[in-house]
Amino acid sequence: MRYSALAIMRQVLNGHRGWTPAWRDPEPQSNYDFIVIGGGGHGLATAYYLASEHKAARVAVLEKGWIGGGNVGRNTTIIRANYMLDGNQPFYELSLKLWENLEQDLNYNAMVSQRGILNLCHTDAQRDAYRRRGNAMMFTGSGAELLDTEGVRAMYPYLNFDDARFPIKGGLLHRRGGTARHDGVAWGYARAADQRGVDIIQNCEVKGFRIENGKVLGVETTRGYIGAKKVGVAVAGSSGRVMAQAGMRLPIESHVLQAFVSEGLKPVLDGVITYGAGHFYVSQSDKGGLVFGGDIDGYNTYAQRGNLPVVEDVAEGGMSLMPMIGRARLLRMWGGVMDMSMDGSPFIDRTGIDGLFFNGGWCYGGFKATPASGFCFAHLMATERPHEVATAFRLDRFKTGRMIDEKGMGAQPNLH
Ligand SMILES: Cc1cc2nc3c(=O)[nH]c(=O)nc-3n(C[C@H](O)[C@H](O)[C@H](O)COP(=O)(O)OP(=O)(O)OC[C@H]3O[C@@H](n4cnc5c(N)ncnc54)[C@H](O)[C@@H]3O)c2cc1C
Repeated sequence: MRYSALAIMRQVLNGHRGWTPAWRDPEPQSNYDFIVIGGGGHGLATAYYLASEHKAARVAVLEKGWIGGGNVGRNTTIIRANYMLDGNQPFYELSLKLWENLEQDLNYNAMVSQRGILNLCHTDAQRDAYRRRGNAMMFTGSGAELLDTEGVRAMYPYLNFDDARFPIKGGLLHRRGGTARHDGVAWGYARAADQRGVDIIQNCEVKGFRIENGKVLGVETTRGYIGAKKVGVAVAGSSGRVMAQAGMRLPIESHVLQAFVSEGLKPVLDGVITYGAGHFYVSQSDKGGLVFGGDIDGYNTYAQRGNLPVVEDVAEGGMSLMPMIGRARLLRMWGGVMDMSMDGSPFIDRTGIDGLFFNGGWCYGGFKATPASGFCFAHLMATERPHEVATAFRLDRFKTGRMIDEKGMGAQPNLH
């Protein structure tokens, strides 16, 4: 069923009795050409591009819970391509290009909104660093504008400009960045993959790998053994646990990150702002809630909930940037488990086991990467060669010294 204005009108006349489920609920088959473990954004996007770009016919996504229950439905929805280093920026620019056409591609309203992202700076040194990053963004066509204090004031007059400790000295504006509806992205990819024949199997936890003579043959799951020619792992915060089942230890730690939503307010913030003097970022949802977040909680955990000291820290960041936020009530908060790599950058790579591929280490920046991550992981799994914009995301980079220490990724676990 294609979604369109005409389809909605037809359903209205029909009393909404003709809608069909967005994707099937198939029983697992005994074997597949490709199995993708993890029905988050990255796993679903990988399956979609395997089917759409590489014409793979026998593909399954195995998800231990339900579609959208992981980080893809828990993040603060920010998408952007404002990185600096060679290994990263072309990848994120590809992702942004895929976002720009995503809804037409998937025939799904993922509420992609290029409302602009403004990174604020508070010192001269920070402004210099933003100028350098902005130049790198312009090289890849992502676009960047450096604003002075008055430029920022014209956009957001209510910010705390004259704070003696953290005066706002300007900002780096990335107009093509913005937000997308997080779980809508998962549903859109799931539906589009299903329409291309991908089996999306929920409530199917992978408990082990069958590996013989250095080659993966399939996976043991809570719904029985399923054979596969190739297996891709995209389980985000569970990366360490799942890859341990294949005997691999990863340069990744799992940490919890929280998100917060205020009560609904009248439109007050039409873009995304990140505070350069603390760790705080905020946008406003279409329902009116201020959606914001800050730092990870700072201890290893697999629990999808956080603790109060970070709530206080994030609220303080909000208060010092936009004091009027103190009058809004905090409505909801939740946590997600982040796969934090030791240089803040991700992995899209083969493993030492033939037919087994790994995608992870997205830290808290993996939502924006969803389209390109799926695109490049599908390319790697189908062709056994890395996509040209993802050649740096190697698992052995800590051994070879080719780390991608990228400030644009956000804070790193080794710095906490
Ligand atoms: C609070 C918060 C805010 C964030 N804000 C942003 C942001 O603004 N912008 C941004 O770019 N990124 C953000 N992120 C990061 C982003 O959400 C993640 O990096 C990204 O979603 C991870 O990829 P995913 O969608 O595939 O993960 P997930 O949705 O977590 O998918 C992984 C899936 O694997 C499944 N799984 C695990 N183990 C198994 C198993 N054994 N068998 C089968 N399935 C298994 C899980 O159930 C899960 O559904 C944020 C994250 C959080 C938590």
